[in-house]
Amino acid sequence: MIRLHVEAALAAGQTIDATPGQAHYLATVMRRSAGDSVRLFNGRDGEWEARIAALGRGKAAFTVERLVRPQADDADVWLMFAVLKRDTTDLVVQKATELGVSALLPVFTERTNAARVNAQRLEAIAVEAAEQSERLTVPVLHPARPLHEALADWPADRGLFAAMERAEAPPLTPARSPAALLIGPEGGFGPRDCMLLEQCGFVRPVSLGPRILRAETACIVGLALLQAPGCG
Ligand code: SAH
Repeated sequence: MIRLHVEAALAAGQTIDATPGQAHYLATVMRRSAGDSVRLFNGRDGEWEARIAALGRGKAAFTVERLVRPQADDADVWLMFAVLKRDTTDLVVQKATELGVSALLPVFTERTNAARVNAQRLEAIAVEAAEQSERLTVPVLHPARPLHEALADWPADRGLFAAMERAEAPPLTPARSPAALLIGPEGGFGPRDCMLLEQCGFVRPVSLGPRILRAETACIVGLALLQAPGCG
């Protein structure tokens, strides 16, 4: 089953142009042809069965046929994470999307491993992971910015669980949404980061267990714990 994310509105009878990347994927990678069916979603109108109406070099169009899954509310969990090396950041975006996060907030901390992120690349990874994991939405990717800026305009109703290794913090347990998880960089949070976090009333330090996890592992484990079944 091929699932593709599109920007256009979805409704029966609509014709929608594919992006050149989607056309290439359908024709060359998946060897599909006109008449084959695909599923489309845009984050607003649910999931639709559609047919490939035309497929040529770098071009394709779909005809939208019928609604197969109505739009539903996703969990409302954000992941704020210190930007890591490129491949690891890619992995975090992919796994966090599979784990259902509604927003991704990359931040620069004292010991962040990279000076910038390629937002376009991360967006593409999130779209692909949303397609693959049968989500009906793609997480919102916020622009990367310093930790203090992200904390400065934090929404009052959202608790932020800051994962702190070696810190007598209580274990992370499932939370009702809206919630957010904060994971530090490979080198851990620095003293200035910690001071900043301590000053924020909405920050709750949490432990992910007795072992020191790599940042990417901590993201995956933390998101799973935060959303353990039966809560939220
Ligand atoms: N290099 C640091 C570890 C950083 S681990 C050191 O040796 O001390 C990277 C990030 O993962 C941390 O900033 C923290 O947010 C998270 N993390 C890793 N293990 C954790 C644990 N057991 N409990 C809570 N957070 C953890």
